[in-house]
Amino acid sequence: MGIIELRGCLDNELIEICRELGLKQFRGLQLFQWVQQKAVLSWDEIKNISKDDLQTLSSRLHLYSLEQVQEQRSKDGTRKYLFRLEDGEMIECVLMDYSRTQSRDRHTVCVSTQVGCAVGCAFCATGIEGFRRNLSAAEIVGQVLDITHLIRQEDPDFQVTNIVFMGMGEPLLNYDSVLKAIKLLNHEQGQAIGMRRMTISTCGVVPRMLQLAKDNPQVGLAVSLHAAQDEIRNQLVPMNRRYPLALLMETCHEYSRMTHRRITFEVALTAENTRREEAEDLARLLKGQLGHVNLIPINPVEGTGMKRPDPEKIKRFAQVLENAGISVSSREERGTDINAACGQLRRQWEG
Ligand code: SF4
Repeated sequence: MGIIELRGCLDNELIEICRELGLKQFRGLQLFQWVQQKAVLSWDEIKNISKDDLQTLSSRLHLYSLEQVQEQRSKDGTRKYLFRLEDGEMIECVLMDYSRTQSRDRHTVCVSTQVGCAVGCAFCATGIEGFRRNLSAAEIVGQVLDITHLIRQEDPDFQVTNIVFMGMGEPLLNYDSVLKAIKLLNHEQGQAIGMRRMTISTCGVVPRMLQLAKDNPQVGLAVSLHAAQDEIRNQLVPMNRRYPLALLMETCHEYSRMTHRRITFEVALTAENTRREEAEDLARLLKGQLGHVNLIPINPVEGTGMKRPDPEKIKRFAQVLENAGISVSSREERGTDINAACGQLRRQWEG
């Protein structure tokens, strides 16, 4: 029997392992709470299970935390982490802290789901580096647990409230691990993060979007659209050659029909794609969709040659969409002073 990653186990799986090891089954739930709710980093921190039982459990279960290589803090409170995994690969993870700017506390973690990414979007530092491997559910959940552990040193009541699967990687190309991570993070004996407070962001992997609609875990879905014409989107998001816009839009309709959920359409704005015609094309494309548009002025990434657009142009772009009856917002810019665009920190570190 192989060693299993403890942070990737649900309570019922731990109860079953306890049964197989001849331990009392309630130890499984206790262990789950220590790992997923209290976010312990090592066996030594577990208090109400005997040393002998812990020894037996550690013969089947592997508990490890991510190694923090770097932390950057932005003036707006955003913290960006570079973590090293056990095999030496590095991933990034961001904590966006809205408590200073809004009436209610909101602590959102942006997690990575893969090391690198095979999609290769033109504006993305992660894409430039190519795909290395998928993360396990334990490694995805581990980002949230390690950040929780770190911040609780300063604030013992700290609790992550929202998750966005928008870090390095395409979440729907690591479907099973992402869905397991969602179950773990949602578990009421763990972090208990509501399904509706988690959002998967995809560049449009059509078959997996339909699978997600069928499985319907009640999480939010954001589609990275970025352009309303195939020729342009082919350049920005190469996945578009496989699943072009007409098919993607049909799939979005089907997703909304099956789940009754509104999709968020993400549009990264650069100095080059904020013209009136582009806004009009987008309004035409989204006509009749149950959705909302989120405009994101890009953080410039070295090597892509793309520049940040002028704020006036963003306003005019949003106005065209609003005039066409499309709900639109502009994403609050976070961490622009700390390489907040996905993959930038890892690139810099690896040189
Ligand atoms: S934007 Fe997302 S899907 Fe595109 S290359 Fe970067 S990580 Fe991959």
